Amino acid sequence: VASRLPQLGTTVFSVMSALAQQHGAVNLGQGFPDFEGDPALLDAVDRAMRSGHNQYPPMPGAPALRQAIAAKIETLYGHRYDVDREITVTAGATQGILTALLAVVHPGDEVIVLEPAYDSYGPNITLAGGTMVPVPLDPHTFRPDFERIRAALTPRTRVLMINTPHNPSGNVWTADEMRQLAQLLDGTDVLVVSDEVYEHMVYDGQQHQSVARLPALAARSFVVSSFGKTYHVTGWKVGFVAAPAPLMAEFRKVHQYNVFTVNSPMQVGLAAYMADPAPYLGLSDFYQRKRDRFRAGLAGTPFKLLPCPGSYFQCVDYSGLPAPLAGMDDMALCQWLTREAGVAAIPMSAFYSTPASTGGRPSIIRFCFAKKDETLDLALDRLRKLP
Ligand code: PMP
Ligand code: GLN
Repeated sequence: VASRLPQLGTTVFSVMSALAQQHGAVNLGQGFPDFEGDPALLDAVDRAMRSGHNQYPPMPGAPALRQAIAAKIETLYGHRYDVDREITVTAGATQGILTALLAVVHPGDEVIVLEPAYDSYGPNITLAGGTMVPVPLDPHTFRPDFERIRAALTPRTRVLMINTPHNPSGNVWTADEMRQLAQLLDGTDVLVVSDEVYEHMVYDGQQHQSVARLPALAARSFVVSSFGKTYHVTGWKVGFVAAPAPLMAEFRKVHQYNVFTVNSPMQVGLAAYMADPAPYLGLSDFYQRKRDRFRAGLAGTPFKLLPCPGSYFQCVDYSGLPAPLAGMDDMALCQWLTREAGVAAIPMSAFYSTPASTGGRPSIIRFCFAKKDETLDLALDRLRKLP
């Protein structure tokens, strides 16, 4: 058949997880915890399943879960989304992002993506018939460059995609950057898809800057998040999207004929569990300890640690490794590390649409530290023994 995505193979996450398994490597590649979610959450889902929540929930999601989401966003970010019209539960953030793009991107529309970027954005834009316009983040700090974004805006720009805390760099937008974004888009009809799946993983006393905090941005944004990340259950594939009613109405037209709705017992269980804010409010402390353990373990090795203000990813520059490792491209190095050192990671180049857009080959790889301490320690042992 004529492929709609001719350039694509299998995602780097699947490839590296398979390679890690094949070689018995510690898998710090694909982003997922190697520990279980809270037993109280598992019990809540069990109770939901045993108390009859096993048929289709309403198309936009279980009402109790939408209420819990609206309450959380209002408490944390100060914006009240209407439970009936402005929140939809999705099959993970992945479906939320695709559905948002399918709902608003018309053939020929341009969608700006700040690179490096999560790997689903580009193919999603292609499927929606749009044209992806990559704009580089600062190659050293991974901060947004508003002059470059401004220069990329055209009358065809339909959507700007942003992601904070950022996968893969871990960078976190500041309140001032959010204000600059609001200013930049003032007077345009550009929409924002704001990927906030790591919203509860922000370190060193910083705060997550949701677009929902600024009315001018909330009015033009789809906010996307994921329970998989927040509650250590990536395999459940439950997330949500919040947006103003006119945008959400279009979103739901696509959603209802895409998945229609998302599995019932997990939604009901999640709603009950969300009554206690402690798990998500405590997540930053939980992961900051892991980040610090991992960084301390790599200190003094040839891996140069990049800042990690958020997310559960630690990036390192490997150009200080001895030859020939330092000269390898990042994919080759990740394969070598998996096979020879027994630790899997993800190459930074996987987050760029074209090799050219990396602005020179990045000698950077990404480790996921959402792992048991003993897993991190085993990986660190192996990484410290490198030549
Ligand atoms: N966006 C980003 C930035 C992610 O890292 C991920 C998960 N790796 C997703 C979206 C997808 O989230 P989900 O698993 O809920 O579909
Ligand atoms: N978001 C995860 C990561 O960045 C992977 C999700 C996936 O495998 N598609 O590692």
